Amino acid sequence: MRAGLAPGAWAALESHLIQAYPNEACGVLLGRAEAPFAVVEAHACANLNTERSRDRYLMDPADQIRVEKDARRRSLDVVGYYHSHPDHPAQASATDLELSWEQVLYIIVSVREGKVAERRAWFRPLGQKSFEEVALDAAL
Ligand SMILES: [Zn+2]
Repeated sequence: MRAGLAPGAWAALESHLIQAYPNEACGVLLGRAEAPFAVVEAHACANLNTERSRDRYLMDPADQIRVEKDARRRSLDVVGYYHSHPDHPAQASATDLELSWEQVLYIIVSVREGKVAERRAWFRPLGQKSFEEVALDAAL
């Protein structure tokens, strides 16, 4: 499985995640939610988890609803979500799996010392309880 990302979407999500470092940050990916997945926009949402902000995130539901409503109005799909792993690999964690939905793209970016170190993406097919890795294409 593959997903393409527009350069503007990469730029937006990476600058957001770098700015939030050393805390975890998260956001919504918009585009086309059918294979081949295409992400054309990335929108930052607040991380409401303040107690464990370095290794957990709780996406602000108000931000999420605002982004998703705006997407519907513009005929864009919610393709998935992104978040950072500050000073940890971009491997999906047990918590990520536990909190994941099926058929949603999850982009995880490892940020080390304020710089992007690794980008990976994950997808849980219908009826499956584990992630499959998704190949990311830098540009559409
Ligand atoms: Zn994670």
